[in-house]
Amino acid sequence: MTMNKRDKDLGMNRAITRRDFLNGVAVTAGAALMPWDLFAAKPSNAEPSNSSTYYPPALTGLRGSHVGAFEAAHALRDGTFWQSAGKPEDTGENYDLIVVGGGISGLAAAHFYRKIAGEKARVLIVENHDDFGGHAKRNEFRVNDSFRLGFGGTFAIESPAPYSAVAKGVVEELGIDVPSYSKYFDKNLYRSFGLRRKIFFDKETFGADKLVINPTVRGGDESEDSSDSTPQLLKQFLADAPIAAQAKEDFQRLLQEGKDYFPGLTSDEKKARLARVSYANYLKDVCGVHEDIVKMYQAMPHSLFGVGIDAVSAQDAWGLGMPGFSGLKLDPAPGKGMNRDAIPNEEAEKYFFHFPDGNATIARLLVRKLIPEAIPGSTLSDMILAKANYSKLDRESSPVRLRLNSTAVRVKHVGDAASANEVEVTYARGGKAYTARAKNVVLACWHVVIPYICDELPAKQREALASAQKVPLLYTNVAIRNWTSFQKVGTNAVYAPGMYHTSMNIDLPVSIGGYECSRKPEQPIVIHMMKSPCHPGLPARDQHMMGRIELYSTEFKTMERNIREQLSRTLGAGGFDPARDISAITVNRWPHGYAYEYNSLWDPFWLEGGEIPCEVARKPFGRIAIANADAGAYAYTDCAIDQAWRAVGEITRS
Ligand SMILES: Cc1cc2nc3c(=O)[nH]c(=O)nc-3n(C[C@H](O)[C@H](O)[C@H](O)COP(=O)(O)OP(=O)(O)OC[C@H]3O[C@@H](n4cnc5c(N)ncnc54)[C@H](O)[C@@H]3O)c2cc1C
Repeated sequence: MTMNKRDKDLGMNRAITRRDFLNGVAVTAGAALMPWDLFAAKPSNAEPSNSSTYYPPALTGLRGSHVGAFEAAHALRDGTFWQSAGKPEDTGENYDLIVVGGGISGLAAAHFYRKIAGEKARVLIVENHDDFGGHAKRNEFRVNDSFRLGFGGTFAIESPAPYSAVAKGVVEELGIDVPSYSKYFDKNLYRSFGLRRKIFFDKETFGADKLVINPTVRGGDESEDSSDSTPQLLKQFLADAPIAAQAKEDFQRLLQEGKDYFPGLTSDEKKARLARVSYANYLKDVCGVHEDIVKMYQAMPHSLFGVGIDAVSAQDAWGLGMPGFSGLKLDPAPGKGMNRDAIPNEEAEKYFFHFPDGNATIARLLVRKLIPEAIPGSTLSDMILAKANYSKLDRESSPVRLRLNSTAVRVKHVGDAASANEVEVTYARGGKAYTARAKNVVLACWHVVIPYICDELPAKQREALASAQKVPLLYTNVAIRNWTSFQKVGTNAVYAPGMYHTSMNIDLPVSIGGYECSRKPEQPIVIHMMKSPCHPGLPARDQHMMGRIELYSTEFKTMERNIREQLSRTLGAGGFDPARDISAITVNRWPHGYAYEYNSLWDPFWLEGGEIPCEVARKPFGRIAIANADAGAYAYTDCAIDQAWRAVGEITRS
């Protein structure tokens, strides 16, 4: 087929570093039908993991949940795995602990266990991806002579609530001095070039493509840039935004009028109302604003919840500082049923650290503690540029072994759970099944997987585990040769409510440990883009399910075209040419992204009281304990660590 002109202009024919094999697509449409033969598919990193050239962080194309990572688990879910798996081969390996899941929770569990059981304790970590860290994923790029890092998932040390003593303890033990962040962060760099947060209005949603100043204090993009909202900015926005005249009037009214929409109700009564209505409906039905304003706000909560304002309560919107509430004179205490992300906390706000590869640095520091020979160095600063030697991760001579490309498919006590001395873990790797045994197991994997691999758990617990919906997301990194186009259009962070990716920003300028960020517009940089594949109008959990199917069934080529098109439309006026300026694209696909956080619109128990599913889900069973951020229904790194601590406590308490 010949390439059409638009594709050519976008550079669809240009060699970017590498496209993933099978084009990253799961062959059949829809997540429900993953073919068994893909179980035998090679991991996306075609090198064997013990080869010296095996190095997943440098791979581009479709990453995150890459081809080769999920097929065994999906076959298990579909009941087809054991039809072709054959008899598992006994490795004869015996451990003190086997951890399922090599994300921060699993790595932290191994770390805590060794503190209690001693450094000689033998630990195996099995992980289905070709890299460790789970969502904390490192993406590397080489553009001309520059080395650039990007975060493929977890962006920063940050949490809506303060870190616990345990989580802080781990951060400190790893050598991270959170308050020193300002030393590494060039806070005024983008402002010194006159860059500001902007909103891209697209012609399909708003009638015209236009990049306009973002007058809101914060929201929509991921710049961490809480800019001032001056009357001048508002004036400029009102003059430029391609929205109806009525919408402009309504917007000003929303920001300034201070009307009490619920006269006669107490603050608590008002909050109770707000907890039961979506922010979209509040804006439309209570504040009576023009639909252009609703459309403009629609995607603002994507980066927090993976859904838009149709599925976020007005009470949460109030907590997040969105407009329309000042006249209600609510007392500042959190209302019943507020999502934890929507409860402001000053101490937590200050505890922030962004590494150029996000919290992959935390995962790497943990791995170096567990398996020192796998990553050279001993300090935080020598970690940033350190190259991991993946061939050292799984060696018999090491007390801790990390086995990648290995999906746990069965976890079962040897004998009765109440009296067993061992647990057997069966895992699939390269098309074959293997077994290993341990005195204890920590399941630090996603909770939705657990009912399929651990059928001895009580039915009620399996049901609670299965309800731990994951929030699907795309975290895309685009390495570009320079950012002069950003400079020319005057922005570093764009919120784009109607576009494929609803936010994009050039990375925070952080230089640390010999890594130098891009300081001049002529230098290469990584653009970070975020998409939440939500389906507005449906209940939140259904939106996540549909989004997951969408991500598994979209070809990389389609994502690439959307990325090139969006960059061209947003930055074209600044001279951006996608065919010339893009060096590499890495789409981190996370169909199983954030842990699902409870909220008042969709989880009655959260508002009215009742059993909390994650508390039922995480109960220990015999020699098996359950960790992962899902165990706290809280999508943050500190939760992954806290839950590991609890789980290890449960199996080591005797
Ligand atoms: C895109 C994104 C951005 C985020 N940004 C932030 C942020 O800025 N700050 C923050 O604090 N938090 C952030 N979070 C949340 C944070 O990343 C997580 O809470 C934390 O990293 C979760 O760690 P975990 O180990 O519990 O889970 P995961 O990182 O998901 O690790 C679990 C691992 O288990 C593996 N697994 C699953 N099933 C099996 C099996 N059967 N066999 C073997 N392995 C299995 C999975 O593949 C995965 O690698 C973000 C999350 C996402 C998805």
